[in-house]
Amino acid sequence: MATTTTRIFNFSAGPAVLPLPVLEQVQRDLIALPGVGMSIMEISHRSKPFDAIIKGAEADIRALAGVPDNYRVLFLQGGASLQFSMVPMNLLTPGGTADYILTGAWSQKALKEAKKVGKTNVAATTEAEQFTRVPGQGELQLTSGAAYVHMTSNNTIFGTEWTDVPRTGDVPLVSDTSSDMFSRPIDIARHGLIYAGAQKNLGPSGVTLVIVRDDLLARSQATLPTMLSYAVQAENASLYNTPPTFGIYVLGLVVKWIRSEGGLEAMARLNERKAARLYAEIDRSGFYRGTAQKESRSRMNVTFRLGSEDLEKKFIQSATAAGFDGLKGHRSVGGIRASIYNAFPEAGVDSLVQFMQEFERTNG
Ligand SMILES: *Cc1c(COP(=O)(O)O)cnc(C)c1O
Repeated sequence: MATTTTRIFNFSAGPAVLPLPVLEQVQRDLIALPGVGMSIMEISHRSKPFDAIIKGAEADIRALAGVPDNYRVLFLQGGASLQFSMVPMNLLTPGGTADYILTGAWSQKALKEAKKVGKTNVAATTEAEQFTRVPGQGELQLTSGAAYVHMTSNNTIFGTEWTDVPRTGDVPLVSDTSSDMFSRPIDIARHGLIYAGAQKNLGPSGVTLVIVRDDLLARSQATLPTMLSYAVQAENASLYNTPPTFGIYVLGLVVKWIRSEGGLEAMARLNERKAARLYAEIDRSGFYRGTAQKESRSRMNVTFRLGSEDLEKKFIQSATAAGFDGLKGHRSVGGIRASIYNAFPEAGVDSLVQFMQEFERTNG
């Protein structure tokens, strides 16, 4: 049976590596939560112990990210992909226009769903440059009085990330933060709504974190399918129906772990350090070639190529044999992608850098 001593370095883009102390606590308490005598998977979502778990997760999120009082924290299902639909269904009111900033495949998918609901405008796109960067403020063609502006803070597939959020004036900014949520400080007040599927940086798949400014809840029409209404989900504190209890439990532990590690500032420093080490190796000799333009490089998903697809295949095969998993780039773009989220250990980055140098030495 596998034990913690046999864990390998997991570079998967998602579901992705979780903090070892969290997995150990889940394992230890899986059969019976302390003081409860039943598994987290066996208790009612309306029980006292679960009430403490979901309220505790929310309180930790609020403390960690400085969530202002006029924002609601929701734990939903359907992944970030359901948010592609819920955002326009709730926020794109009749007659309004939603602005979309296209920085990769996920924002394109978000736009596709919004088009089914109402009028949209592409405020900027970097598709002509194969999404190798995110646009600057000056490139945004924002609609005045738009219903909202949608962005993707980190482009998991293309390895680009915003360093700051764009200014949208009074128009609510909606951000898909699925792959960089809680990797650095976030100014919640500059957003109208933030969403993130948990399975990259926050926990297991099955739970989606949504943080929404409470005045926006008034836009949810009563005609919406009940489960798809932010207003209903907020009124019922994410308990309209059975929520993803296990996912919320683990997400709560992950947030507690981030706090115990020093919070978002500490995560930012750690993530900067890990990414800088990897990019320095990519830039060192020309054997590896980073795909994202330098000012837009992601600290979460480091994407690069080698001289040929054959060499990339060999790189991935050798890396797998050396105990690294998940380095293959997304099927749509190829190449190599090292995802190094919060929980990815620094030692793993050092090992990969060593491996890259050795691979260059024997194949360069
Ligand atoms: C993975 C990902 C998604 C899709 O998430 P699901 O939870 O699988 O729907 C959406 N946006 C971004 C930025 C992602 O990284």
